[in-house]
Amino acid sequence: MADYNVIIIGAGPGGYVAALRCAQLGLKTACVDKSVTLEGKPTLGGTCLNVGCIPSKALLDSSHHYYHLQKHAADHGIQHQGLSIDVATMQARKDKIVKTLTQGIAGLFKKNSVTHLPGIGRLVGTNEVEVKGSDGQVNTFSTDHIIIATGSIPTAIPIATVDNKYIVDSTGALAFDSVPKRLGLIGAGAIGLELGSVWNRLGSEVTILEALPDFLAAADRKIADAAFKELKKQGLTIHLDAKVSSATVSNEEVTVSYSGKKGDQQLVVDKLVVAVGRKPNTEGLNAPAVGIQIDARGFVQVNEHRQTAIPNIYAIGDVIGGPMLAHKASEEGVMVAERIAGQKSEMTYHTVPWVIYIHPEIAWVGQTEEQLKTAGIEYKVGQFPFAASGRARAHGETNGMVRMLADAQTDQILGVHIFGMSASELIAEAVVAMEFEGSAEDLARTIHAHPTLSEAVHEAALGVAGRMIHA
Ligand code: FAD
Ligand code: NAD
Repeated sequence: MADYNVIIIGAGPGGYVAALRCAQLGLKTACVDKSVTLEGKPTLGGTCLNVGCIPSKALLDSSHHYYHLQKHAADHGIQHQGLSIDVATMQARKDKIVKTLTQGIAGLFKKNSVTHLPGIGRLVGTNEVEVKGSDGQVNTFSTDHIIIATGSIPTAIPIATVDNKYIVDSTGALAFDSVPKRLGLIGAGAIGLELGSVWNRLGSEVTILEALPDFLAAADRKIADAAFKELKKQGLTIHLDAKVSSATVSNEEVTVSYSGKKGDQQLVVDKLVVAVGRKPNTEGLNAPAVGIQIDARGFVQVNEHRQTAIPNIYAIGDVIGGPMLAHKASEEGVMVAERIAGQKSEMTYHTVPWVIYIHPEIAWVGQTEEQLKTAGIEYKVGQFPFAASGRARAHGETNGMVRMLADAQTDQILGVHIFGMSASELIAEAVVAMEFEGSAEDLARTIHAHPTLSEAVHEAALGVAGRMIHA
């Protein structure tokens, strides 16, 4: 008998969720992870909990309070003097949130009898995983199934080498101990916009250099245009179509050379963040040696059920490509665990929601108007502005809109795009409707509480049939 039914390598949102689901289904499960805290203690939760989703949202929250008080407290009749930010306290709050949540996963492992094996995992056979602990001790465990959930790491670019002092990646940008006076970011993707927003709100002069000519190329154009305008208003400078050629450090500043719309330019900053995407992490895994295929970009090759060429070895999350999102990794973990347990679980990818946590937030699910046009699909649009929402007015959050796209013949919802306060929460309704293959009429006939921001989704659904009430 093998030591375990399932060994999972990686305890990010893909791996730890897979481990818990395997255990729920009665499988003897172990989860290997090499991550350690700054104090050198093993930690669970992967990129997302330690240096990704959670710490970034903690800083976004702190910086939003600061910015909001500065800009809008007076609108409410709230007077304050000498508002200041104590970065050490803000960082300590973030660290405490991370610690609470990562320790929470350790608690869930204990409760569900998942064995945590701290150390570096390596495949030494199709049914064997070697684990090398931080003390150098090596143990090998046999297992019926393996799930690779080793995630991703920041993509490095040779023209801007991360030195973790002046030129940093997202992990460094989450840990600044003071507000940089001038902050540059390469890449206007999710990380560039979210971390750029954090430090801009706290007082940095932020400049983002983006290689592509379109802002947020994957988003609906009308939403992306509105967000671009808003970020500019908030003080972020974003240069599109900017090709960076070098970044050099001297005299405690970074000089970034790039060619942009105005020809060759230079940007001088105190800190530079490289945020140009992430790449799959298979280093040291020994995957090809056991017959697992890795593509040219480093992603582990899997079939639609996330099974590799070796039938008892699966891979999930960032390491296989597709949307590099925590919730996508987790759902793949659930599907794979259930399939290992003999169930016939499937996953729908066209309903994976996307969120960019700037303020107000951007969230979408399904296809954009541009994608529908390209595919030659006839569609109807309902668009409702938050300026016409009573609740948004009460919040003083009138910027943005909900756009709903539905099939012109069947009325099935094909995409919903939101730019507005709490878009990350509002999108869930659209995801559920699309998961049930619902129509705009279904949402239009669903009662929404008043006054709520969700009424804007309702109105957009009414708008598809040309019968909005409040706009
Ligand atoms: P990971 O979370 O990367 O976990 C993989 C784990 O495997 C790591 O702990 C790693 O140390 C470990 N590992 C790797 N190799 C080995 C080995 N050989 N042996 C042992 N352990 C190993 N996504 C969202 O959906 N929403 C967000 O708001 C969001 N914000 C983000 C903000 C930032 C700054 C960053 C960087 C990312 C963010 N993401 C967000 C992306 C999200 O973090 C990833 O999509 C998600 O963590 C992927 O999960 P995963 O389980 O595939 O891998
Ligand atoms: P990204 O792919 O979202 O954006 C990278 C951006 O950098 C792109 O716009 C790209 O065109 C640009 N770029 C690439 N090379 C460049 C260069 N040499 N010069 C200038 N611009 C360049 O990647 P990211 O922002 O680094 O985030 C990494 C991953 O983490 C993403 O897959 C993202 O989905 C995930 N993430 C998600 C969230 C969220 O869900 N809210 C937040 C943060 C990160």
